[in-house]
Amino acid sequence: MRIVITGAAGFLGSHLCDRFLAEGHEVVGIDNFVTGHPDNIAHLMGEQRFSFIRHDVSTFTYVPGPVDGVLHFASPASPVDYLELPIQTLKVGSLGTHNALGLAKAKGARFLMASTSEVYGDPLEHPQKESYWGNVNPVGPRGVYDEAKRFSEAITMAYHTYHGLDTRIVRIFNTYGPRMRPRDGRVVSNFIVQALNHEPITIYGEGNQTRSFCYVDDEVDGIYRLFVHGDHQPTNIGNPTEYTVRQLAELVVELTGSPAPIEHRPLPQDDPRLRQPDITRARTMLGWEPRVPLRDGLARTIAFLRTLLGTERMRPRVVGAGQPRRA
Ligand code: NAD
Ligand code: UDP
Repeated sequence: MRIVITGAAGFLGSHLCDRFLAEGHEVVGIDNFVTGHPDNIAHLMGEQRFSFIRHDVSTFTYVPGPVDGVLHFASPASPVDYLELPIQTLKVGSLGTHNALGLAKAKGARFLMASTSEVYGDPLEHPQKESYWGNVNPVGPRGVYDEAKRFSEAITMAYHTYHGLDTRIVRIFNTYGPRMRPRDGRVVSNFIVQALNHEPITIYGEGNQTRSFCYVDDEVDGIYRLFVHGDHQPTNIGNPTEYTVRQLAELVVELTGSPAPIEHRPLPQDDPRLRQPDITRARTMLGWEPRVPLRDGLARTIAFLRTLLGTERMRPRVVGAGQPRRA
């Protein structure tokens, strides 16, 4: 198959490129590097079956030649990134998804959209099943991401029912691993980079909020299976083992052997208090479940981030990060 992956230079997109290439397919990656990095796909540059288009998918998107699948992963994904880029996030979730769907329709290709556990907002049902409609504040700071993804799901479903497009919707839960951007602001990369640099480990609030962390190889395997064997209904892909943020901080300190102290910072507005996927659907439909325990996945992520120590990429974000960046 010839597969288009938007967001190919990002964390998940680059691992998906690797997986589709390893399965023998041809991959066309698209990215504008707004949150991704060329290093993530540098190893693919000599690969005959890989090509790359630098392009903003929120504008008209054309790919020459036949296409069998489109996986739409372009979007800022870290809360700090999407708070800085609110309009771009809304545009890539709406216009970008529309363009990616249009490409799939024109080529008669299968379409997979990267949705998120954020569609459940600050959930009132726990764990979250796909049937739960969510608890989202549309005008809060996270609304730019959550509502863009909810719109993406709605338009993907509309292309399925109205145009008969063969579609998939994956609801991804907090995924971590090598190629995360060191200062992207997400909790796993923040804690590891802080521990390695002997900077204070910043727990927001008391650290009692929970997340369920999925190692990237498991996540990509679930997405690949959904693409090949799944159906059009939304499917949670995540690791159901739940941790508090404080437990995560303690584990990172233990695994890095860092002397870094723990510091508490204010809890961001609308930060979900609990998050855990119900993966019954993925288990039964795809025979999928995650295999890599947090301890092992963190060790591999620490090893990756250690290789970047002392480089430009480890430098702290500028003061004011997380505030909307004005043009
Ligand atoms: P990432 O920031 O590493 O990757 C996103 C990529 O999309 C980047 O390379 C970025 O440059 C690119 N991009 C953004 N806007 C673009 C545009 N307009 N045109 C072209 N390229 C654009 O983030 P990630 O963690 O790899 O997330 C990838 C996808 O998975 C996103 O859609 C995200 O919402 C979704 N997701 C990720 C997680 C997670 O835990 N990593 C959880 C839920 C959902
Ligand atoms: N968090 C934290 N310290 C940090 C970064 C994040 O305590 O330095 C918390 C954040 O408030 C949230 C959780 O960790 O409760 C996960 O945050 P992340 O940004 O990784 O993603 P989210 O799941 O909120 O989208």
